[in-house]
Amino acid sequence: MISRKNSEQLFEKAKTLFPGGVNSPVRAFKSVDGAPLFIAKGDGCHIWDEDGNKFVDFCCSWGPLILGHNHPAVREAIVSTVANGTSFGAPTKLENELGALILANNPFIDKIRFVSSGTEAVMSAIRLARGYTKRDKIIKFDGCYHGHADSLLVKAGSGLATFGTSSSAGVPEAFSKETIVVPLNDEQAILEAVKKYKDQIACMIIEPIPANNGLLLQKKEYLQFLRNVCTENGILLFFDEVISGFRVAFAGAAAYYGIKPDIITYGKIIGGGMPVGAYGASHQIMDCISPVGNVYQAGTLSGNPVAMAAGIAQLNECLKPDFYKDQENRTKLFVDKINTHAKARNYTFEIFTIGSIFWLAFSKKEAIRKADEIDGATMNDFKKLYALLLEKGIYLGPSGYEVGFVSAAHTAEILNTCADKFCAALDEVFA
Ligand SMILES: *Cc1c(COP(=O)(O)O)cnc(C)c1O
Repeated sequence: MISRKNSEQLFEKAKTLFPGGVNSPVRAFKSVDGAPLFIAKGDGCHIWDEDGNKFVDFCCSWGPLILGHNHPAVREAIVSTVANGTSFGAPTKLENELGALILANNPFIDKIRFVSSGTEAVMSAIRLARGYTKRDKIIKFDGCYHGHADSLLVKAGSGLATFGTSSSAGVPEAFSKETIVVPLNDEQAILEAVKKYKDQIACMIIEPIPANNGLLLQKKEYLQFLRNVCTENGILLFFDEVISGFRVAFAGAAAYYGIKPDIITYGKIIGGGMPVGAYGASHQIMDCISPVGNVYQAGTLSGNPVAMAAGIAQLNECLKPDFYKDQENRTKLFVDKINTHAKARNYTFEIFTIGSIFWLAFSKKEAIRKADEIDGATMNDFKKLYALLLEKGIYLGPSGYEVGFVSAAHTAEILNTCADKFCAALDEVFA
C-alpha cells in the first residue's frame, strides 16, 4: 500500500480550517476510500503527493491543463508577466492579445468578456440572456453542470418538463422556479417545455458535450434540433463550453459539431491553469453588457494580466497544426486498448470518449445519453478500480461521475503503459 501518512496529517489539519477539509467538495475523496492526496508538485503528465508518491495524472486539475503540468511556455509567460506586477484594475494589452487570439480563431462569437471562473461566466451570461431577450425563464438539462450559481443549482422535479427544485439549501424556491429542467436526448420534453412557457424562455443552456455527470454524449441531430427550436421560438441557444471549449477543438463543441450557439461560456483551459472564465456572443448581444448596455457585470481581478499571459501561452500551443488530431489519436489508442481487453473478457465495463476526454462506465450499454441511465450501484466498482489504480501509480478524479483528461504531455508510450495497468486493475475488479 502506498503511504498517505503526510496527506492524512494535512487533511486532519485542513478539517479544522475548511468545511470538510477542502475548498471544493469533490476534493474530499468522499466517493473513494481514504484521505485525499495532498499534491506537492506536478510536471508534464505526472504529479507527486506530499508522501513522495508519483502518479500519472488523468485529472489535470479537472481539465484546464491540456498541456500537462508546468509546461515551459506557460510557466515562462507567468513568471515574466508577474515580474511587472500582478494586477492593476486597469486595461492591459495582454487582455487584447488573448481576446484577439480567441476571436480570430472562433467563428461563433464576435466579442468576449473575461471573468475569473466558469461559474462567474455562466452566471453573467445568464443575466445577459435575460437582459437581451427581456424574458426570465431558462431551460437546463438534467445531468449538465454549469457551476454553482443559484439558478443553476436546480434539479428536475417530477414529470417531463417541470419547474426545477433546488439541489442545494440556500437557493430560494422563487429562483428555482425560473429554471425549467428537462432530460437530455428527449425531443418531446423540449417541445412540451417550449409550448408550456411560450415567450417566457430567455435561453436554453446545455453542455454540448455533457462531461460533469459521466460523459453523456449527445447526437449531433439532437443538438441541431435544439438549435432549430431556439431559432423558431426566439430563445437563445447557450453552449456552456467551460469543459469542451479548447478541448475537443479550439472553438470547442460548436466547431466539433458545426452548430452555432447564440451565447458561449469558456473556462478551464482558457486560463492555462490560472483562474479565468469568459463569455462571448454576437456584437448585438454583447453590446447589452455594461458600460455599453444596461446589463451590469464587473470584476476587480477580471482580465488579470498574469492569468491572461498563461492563457495566451497555452492557447498558442493549442493552435499548432494537428494539436487536436494528435490529442484525439493518443486518447483513442489508450481507450481502445482497454476497451478491447474488457470486451474480450465480457466485463461490464466500457470507456466512452470524445477528443481527449474519457469516462469509465461500468456498463455494457451502447450509449449513455441521459443522467438517469447511469446506474449508481456501479459506483462501488469504480471505488475498487480507483484504489487499485492509485496503487499502480495512476491518479483520476476521485468520483465515478467525473471524466478523465489526456494532456499533450501524456505520450503514446506512457498511455500504453497506463492502459496495461488499467487492464490489470480491471482483471482484479472482475476477478
Ligand atoms: C467546471 C465547469 C463549470 C464551473 O466552472 P468553475 O471554474 O469551477 O466555476 C461550469 N460549467 C461547466 C460545463 C464546467 O465544466
